[in-house]
Amino acid sequence: MSEVPTPPSSPSGAASTPLSKLDPGTSAAAMAAMTDGIWLLDAQGRVIHSNGRLERTLGVDEPPDVERCGLRESFHGDYPRGCLFHEMVRSGKVTEGEFRHEPSGRWLRITCYPIHGDGGELLGATHVARDISDTVQIEAMHDLLEATVDQSPDVVLISSVDLRIVYVNSAFERLVGRGRDEMLGRRAWDMLEIFSGDNGMNQVNSVLRNREPFHGLLTVTRADGRQVHLGGSVLPLKDSTGTLSHLVCIGRDLTQQEELERRVQHLAYFDALTDLPNRTLFMDRLTPAMARAEHSSRVCALVVLNLDNFKAINHALGTAAGDDVLRAIAASLLASVRDGDTVARLGGDDFGLALLDMKWPEDVSGVLDKIQQALNKPIALAGTDLEITASMGIALCPSDGTLPSDVLEKATLAMADAKREGPGTIRYYSAEMGSRLEKFMATSARLRKALERGEFRAYYQPYYDITTGDLAGMEALIRWQTEDRGLVPPHEFISVLEETGMVVPAGLWMIDTVCRQVVEWQRQGRPVAPVAVNLSPVQFRTAHLLDDIRRIITDTDVDPRLLTFEVTESTFIEDPEYTRSILTALRALGARISIDDFGTGYSSLAYLKRFPVDHLKIDQSFVRDIIEDVDDATLVSTIITMAHNLGIRTIAEGVETAEHLRILRILRCDIAQGYFFTPPVPPDREDKLFGPR
Ligand code: C2E
Ligand code: MG
Ligand code: MG
Repeated sequence: MSEVPTPPSSPSGAASTPLSKLDPGTSAAAMAAMTDGIWLLDAQGRVIHSNGRLERTLGVDEPPDVERCGLRESFHGDYPRGCLFHEMVRSGKVTEGEFRHEPSGRWLRITCYPIHGDGGELLGATHVARDISDTVQIEAMHDLLEATVDQSPDVVLISSVDLRIVYVNSAFERLVGRGRDEMLGRRAWDMLEIFSGDNGMNQVNSVLRNREPFHGLLTVTRADGRQVHLGGSVLPLKDSTGTLSHLVCIGRDLTQQEELERRVQHLAYFDALTDLPNRTLFMDRLTPAMARAEHSSRVCALVVLNLDNFKAINHALGTAAGDDVLRAIAASLLASVRDGDTVARLGGDDFGLALLDMKWPEDVSGVLDKIQQALNKPIALAGTDLEITASMGIALCPSDGTLPSDVLEKATLAMADAKREGPGTIRYYSAEMGSRLEKFMATSARLRKALERGEFRAYYQPYYDITTGDLAGMEALIRWQTEDRGLVPPHEFISVLEETGMVVPAGLWMIDTVCRQVVEWQRQGRPVAPVAVNLSPVQFRTAHLLDDIRRIITDTDVDPRLLTFEVTESTFIEDPEYTRSILTALRALGARISIDDFGTGYSSLAYLKRFPVDHLKIDQSFVRDIIEDVDDATLVSTIITMAHNLGIRTIAEGVETAEHLRILRILRCDIAQGYFFTPPVPPDREDKLFGPR
């Protein structure tokens, strides 16, 4: 505003300007009577008089600077941006513009009229400013409402009371397949009708007559003649005087709704990854199929299939590749069964197959062969050919049961049994499996009590340096002291502890017990060598394992260099990165790491290179046959040589005879453990543990 030329304080000040030819007194009186804001400008565009109207509306003291930047202007038509006055001077014509005044936010329409002298020379100009804020607001609201209706996903049609179309929105155009211009003015009911039990026209008339809205089904006839059903309303629209002016029809395409519902339904019953039926749908389909099998002489087989080592694939190649594997498996399973059979994804890498209407139980094995052949084909993935195997459990209806949940449970039990047997195994459910389940339940209940009552014991088995004969270490082995069955060896309960998760507290108890024993032996001045504790893969998967071990070490004040942790190869395979981090941390504490039962699992020496490993324990199955079986001897020799190349010492398990020991010495094995020296003994058998051997 500072740049605005200061207007003279009174019209009389203008007497010396060229405007003196006008009669300012008359002008002022006329201007004061106007409702619009009026300014009189001289030939240079300076305001020499204002009637003060606009200043009052805008709440300012001086006339707003319409010629500078105080107002944003938007010229109508092709007028270039610029100030009104100069535009008027340039064109010699009346100019007009719409402006928004800041900060009042009001809109002004300002017209600039030139004032010419008798000789045609420009004497000045009159600016007439009108406050058009209300109109602008109404227009903006109108634009907003129109955009809302036009962009609404619902179809909207407005007709006059004589049922001619006056408006359709874009959704309506798309639905009908006609342009708006084509439809305006046409009879509304040519395209849209009320669909009801009664004559649709009667319904329209009733809306017109009673001025009550109709809610229900509407039918639209598309340009291609097809009819689409809508759910919607026909509303009587009244104007401000209450007179019925229009009919508004609003509707939503029900086929879209149906599609949406179908998709929601699909998600509830199908697996998103493979698009196979999920467990819920699988069970739903089993019910009638099993009822049919029960009442006919047909057989229905339920197969539960679990991929072998799927976790390893996921870890090695990433979960995206894992997903690809699952999809590929889904496809080959589908290709292996007949129409009418169901293949479902039960969750994770578990699949369920319902093979229906088989004539004989033997027919099932034909299908299983086909499935195995399909699975045997390598899957091309990430540049490699992956060979996948699966374990399968089968239960039959009606012989194993007729209740879907019961038969599925039995097939799952059979699968778990197959899994224990090793990759690629197929197992049919048998009653004996059922009794095993009962036994499992009974054992787990007893083990829970054993944990509470402290019925576990730690036994120790020493091992010796083959060259020097010195004590090289010991292994702590768990035992269960029962009242009725005496001392129970671990192979009878370790798997139950693992499957129930009880191996976690039991394993911690072992570590704690061993640490205290080591401290006690040291206190007694025994020549203590590192004691090895077995860690179950299940224990390994618990997030707090490391914290627990650290806590036990602190609590018992044991020297961690006197501890060794034995892990099996399966622990490595499950999650190599995680395993490496834990092993590295254990090593950092000062403990040693042994790989147990080497040779029975994946036996990947490549793995060993990547892990911090001190000892490798050659599984006793190889040691046992080392005398008779040349292959075993060669294998053991190879393992020892390769381990040495990696700087890893070897321990032979299950050394039972002097002959075993002799051969192992020739093969340059470092350490021996076995009944030849002593079986595992309780800690008080110090003669066995520390005595001369
Ligand atoms: P492992 O860790 O491979 O332990 C060696 C097994 O071989 C022990 O069986 C031991 O008694 C046995 N053994 C030792 N020398 C000979 C021999 O000369 N001939 C024969 N035939 N066997 C011999 P054990 O104590 O029955 O333990 C079996 C398995 O149970 C262990 O195999 C280990 O995998 C597991 N286990 C034992 N204690 C624990 C534990 O505290 N925690 C965990 N997670 N597993 C344990
Ligand atoms: Mg062991
Ligand atoms: Mg072992």
